Amino acid sequence: MKFGGTSVADGASLSRVVDIVESSYVAGNEVAVVISAQRGVTDQLITMATELANSPDSSGIGPFINSLRVRHGKVLLESAEDYADEVGILLEEQLCNLENILNAVHNLRELTPRSRDYIITFGERLNSLVVSAAFRQREIPSTTLDGCEAGIVTTSNHGEAMALPEGEGKIRSRVLPLLTGMVPVIMGFMGCTEKGIVTTLGRSGSDYSAAIIGAAIGADEILIWTDVDGIMTSDPRLIPDARVIQTISYLEVMELSYFGAKVMHPRSIEPAMKKNILVRVKNTFNPDHPGTAIVRGEKRDSRVVKALTYIEKVALVNICGAQMIGRPGVAKAIFSQLADRDVNVMMISQGSSEANITLVIEESQEDTAREALAVLLNQGMVREVTTNRDVCAVAVVGAGMAGAKGTGGRIFTALGNGGVNVMMISQGSSEVNISFVVTQADGPKAMRILHDEFRLSEEDDE
Ligand code: ADP
Ligand code: ASP
Ligand code: MG
Repeated sequence: MKFGGTSVADGASLSRVVDIVESSYVAGNEVAVVISAQRGVTDQLITMATELANSPDSSGIGPFINSLRVRHGKVLLESAEDYADEVGILLEEQLCNLENILNAVHNLRELTPRSRDYIITFGERLNSLVVSAAFRQREIPSTTLDGCEAGIVTTSNHGEAMALPEGEGKIRSRVLPLLTGMVPVIMGFMGCTEKGIVTTLGRSGSDYSAAIIGAAIGADEILIWTDVDGIMTSDPRLIPDARVIQTISYLEVMELSYFGAKVMHPRSIEPAMKKNILVRVKNTFNPDHPGTAIVRGEKRDSRVVKALTYIEKVALVNICGAQMIGRPGVAKAIFSQLADRDVNVMMISQGSSEANITLVIEESQEDTAREALAVLLNQGMVREVTTNRDVCAVAVVGAGMAGAKGTGGRIFTALGNGGVNVMMISQGSSEVNISFVVTQADGPKAMRILHDEFRLSEEDDE
């Protein structure tokens, strides 16, 4: 069971977490818990570390450490009074450690990817101590493990590390023995390299941690507890009448999360899919709701389109030049230049005239992409590279679209009728996803139009 930041914001919400775990544990299940940071703490750690590396002023460290002390201390007192002293000391140790590292970052004015990763794991380090104490307060024996102790071995690409199969045996040998007679609380979002260097798994990485651990120990079920009833037809903050989806396939969720649906980490499906483990997304604040079941079957229900998602903060890169026509190797050169600089290409489209290739990348990588492509401009391989940041990508997802005729027509007719101009279109070969790019301003409107066109707010008989 993985609980997100919102599930543990205060004593009242943490007590719901303990209720959920307790009822499963008392019913005879073996439960491993993965916990993420309290909401907002990871963001604060990132901001603080970045500022300290770039500014002569370090006066923010003390108040920041104190705010973490107060925040976690309060939940500890509310949820685990009997352990307040014992665990309070452990929290202080962590805070002292964090303060020292932040001072070091400031003194050196240097934040390496490695030190950044270590710093941003403190949200999970602090929170897990509080959660574990709350279990003990309710007489559920519990202990904490950081991601490394739990056996998660990763690649060394800091900030976006991926789990390596080498960790599987370690996870089994470290976590399985703890499942009898206690509930281990594992810090999400982090692992370590084979040499023991701390890494993080990317933002929202606790979902991925839960999937890695669940897959390694052969869990019957991986439960992702969050603050909404399940995976919805769209981000409920954007489309208030979005509806909870009862059953969805691994592939569909992968497409949704890859295209920005914040509800799950994009890589968190893969480990579960490999082992065919049922993943369920449920609401900590409404545990009786069945939530969403994520399963293998690409069930083709009556609905061709199941959900919509969109990503802001992308950039459109347009590469043109008649030189590209019929010349083998241009695409290869483009992609290898980008890959050499770690630019992740999210969408690709090439016109049949071959005179232009359009790509979608993360907005933060625009400058790097420009540098990479300047090499090809200088070589005369392409004539012009233009970029546009004022755009967003929308993805329309549904296993039912595979082979269903006319879905593309319906999407683009509805958008056209609504006055939305589509700047680029791309359809993956899986046909589970049709995605397109519109201006930032048109994004929410496009989502609304399609949510209505495919009647996604209406209940169905899945
Ligand atoms: P947690 O702290 O539990 O990890 P997150 O904030 O990471 O929670 O993810 C849950 C949030 O994702 C929801 O509150 C919701 O606003 C947002 N969200 C975005 N797209 C979707 C979607 N398609 N279905 C459900 N929630 C979504
Ligand atoms: N705390 C981390 C983040 O904010 C991981 C997570 O929430 O899953 O990204
Ligand atoms: Mg999350």
